[in-house]
This record gives sequence, C-alpha cells and structure tokens, in this order.
Amino acid sequence: MKHYDRVALIGLGLIASSMAHAIRQGGLAGEIIGHARSAETRATALEIGLVDRVYETAAEAVAGADLVVLCVPVGAMAAIAAEIAPHLAPGATVTDVGSVKQAVVEAVAPHMPENVTFIPGHPLAGTEHSGPRSGFATLFVNRWWLITPLEGNDPAAVARLKGFLAAMGANVDEMEVTRHDLVLSVVSHTPHLIAYTMVGVADHLRRVTHDEVIKYSASGFRDFTRIAASDPTMWRDVFLTNKDATLDILGRFTEELFMLQRAIRMGDGEMLFDYFTKTRAIRRSIIEAGQDTAAPDFGRAPPPAERK
Ligand code: NAP
Repeated sequence: MKHYDRVALIGLGLIASSMAHAIRQGGLAGEIIGHARSAETRATALEIGLVDRVYETAAEAVAGADLVVLCVPVGAMAAIAAEIAPHLAPGATVTDVGSVKQAVVEAVAPHMPENVTFIPGHPLAGTEHSGPRSGFATLFVNRWWLITPLEGNDPAAVARLKGFLAAMGANVDEMEVTRHDLVLSVVSHTPHLIAYTMVGVADHLRRVTHDEVIKYSASGFRDFTRIAASDPTMWRDVFLTNKDATLDILGRFTEELFMLQRAIRMGDGEMLFDYFTKTRAIRRSIIEAGQDTAAPDFGRAPPPAERK
C-alpha cells in the first residue's frame, strides 16, 4: 500500500538502502529519490535499483518529496538541513534515522520551515556493514523504530509516518528526546565503546601472544570484534554528540567493573555467581521479547573447518 508519493533518501548507506528495499517490496511509495555524497555511491544506487533517480545535491533530491529521510551520519545533519530547507515542499514530512536524538534536533529543527513537519526517528536495527550494497528489506522486521515527536508536530503527519514505518515491519514507539539518548547509551552506545576498548586491548596484546588472540577468538572475543567493526564515522559522531549520557553510563560501568575486580581479588565466588545469575536472566528476557535467537552461539553456522 502506498503511504507517500515521493520519498527522498538523503545518504544511501546501510539504513537508506534497507529502507529502499523494504519500500519497494511493500509498494510503500510512488517513487524513491536519492542523494549521496560520492558519485560512486550514487552510481551504485542506480545500478542496483535502490532509487528511481539520484541527484548530486540534497537540495535537488528533496524537491517535490512528501517524505524526506535524513540517513547521513549525525555530524552531517546540520549542513544537510540548512541546504535542503529552502527546497522542501510545503506540507512535507522530514524525519531522520540518526542514532542520537538531542543533537539531531538541535542540528535540524532550527532550519525547518513552518509548513514542514520534522519528526526525529531512530530504527534500533543495524549491522556492522555500511554502504549502498549492505541493505536488505527485512532489516527492520520486528525491530523497534523509536520516534521522538516534537512539540507542535502535526498529529496527522505523525500517524502517517508511524503507518509507513510499521509497513516496513518495524514496531514503532514514541519516546522523549533526552530519554532516548540515555536509554540508547545503555543498550547501544556504551556497549560499542566497551567492545572497541576490548578489541584495542587485544590488539596491543597481539604482539605478546603471537596472533593466538585471532586463532582462538571464538571464545567470546569474536563477538566483540563484530561490534567493533562498525562504521568509524558513525560511531565517532555518536560519542561526540551523546557525550553526557555516555559519560554517565561509563561512570556506572567503571564502578561495577571495580566491584567485580575486587570480588576476584578477594576470592568472593558468591558475589560473582550472584552477579552472573542476574545477567543471565537479562539474556533470557531479551530472547522472550523476541529481540534475539535462543539458538546456541546466536544460531551461527560453524566455521568451514568444523563442518562435516
Ligand atoms: P553508512 O552505511 O555509512 O552510509 C552513510 C551514507 O551517508 C552514505 O551514503 C554517505 O555517502 C552519506 N554521507 C555521509 N556524509 C555525508 C555528507 N556530508 N553529505 C551527504 N551524504 C553523506 O551509514 P548508515 O549505517 O546507513 O548510517 C546512517 C545513519 O543511520 C547514521 O546517522 C547512523 O547514526 C544511523 N543508524 C545507523 C545504524 C547502524 O547500525 N549502522 C543503526 C541505526 C541508525 P557516501 O557513500 O557517498 O560516502
């Protein structure tokens, strides 16, 4: 079912290309227009049929669109918003997919004309891959898509956007902007920082362990490396723009880490056992909520050498 006549995707990476596939599959828009920074990405988007037309500038891409989705790194949002503002169609809805919300609101909202509705958003779905070839239509299926409507947003525009996001398979929820940034710091941003740190530590040790870290990585380290392979630009921008919440959660993390360190030093097995029992229950609740598989090793196929 068609939700919008013309959707303009600004930035054509993992999230935008997944949206393009999902929009096509569901017939959710009359046409899909795209813009990306590099000629290479624009050519790829046309070649693989992500979009019907691409433009060299974001300003040209948004003209006549009734939905504009900003799919660029958070640090690029302000310049794009300033560029597109005079070219937006009256009555258009503008949304974004940035991983941080307060900074995006500050970057985008001041540029938006009165006759346009800006509804910030964030799909809680992704992979460690990036670029126009990395998208797939089912990325958002049964994943949360949080929107953080702003005061004065037209309720009809919000309802229409929600219907469109749900049609891509997402579970849509509303959240207040600063709450979003705190919650995401716990469930996504700080875990990424910890993974980056652990992989950095292992990299330092590699010289001492003569690559044994890589050889025996299936023991848990491998799962950190997947997260730590995520796009450096995107994650640099997340930490630069969600500074307060990240520092708050990192402070709490450090306190817990010191507590566990002390328990290990003191041989307090009871404390460690109780702590790990609690964390195991959290894993179970994630599976019950349908946010991951209960299959051992996340349902991974064994590496080729181990297959019969
Ligand atoms: P991506 O695959 O790295 O793609 C980023 C796209 O933005 C590329 O097409 C890039 O163009 C374009 N771009 C970058 N800087 C630009 C600029 N200054 N002007 C115009 N275009 C520019 O990124 P992504 O993973 O889709 O992430 C996009 C947004 O989604 C980010 O705000 C991120 O926080 C958010 N997000 C990501 C995930 C995730 O897991 N990846 C999950 C949820 C939300 P070129 O290809 O030409 O360089």
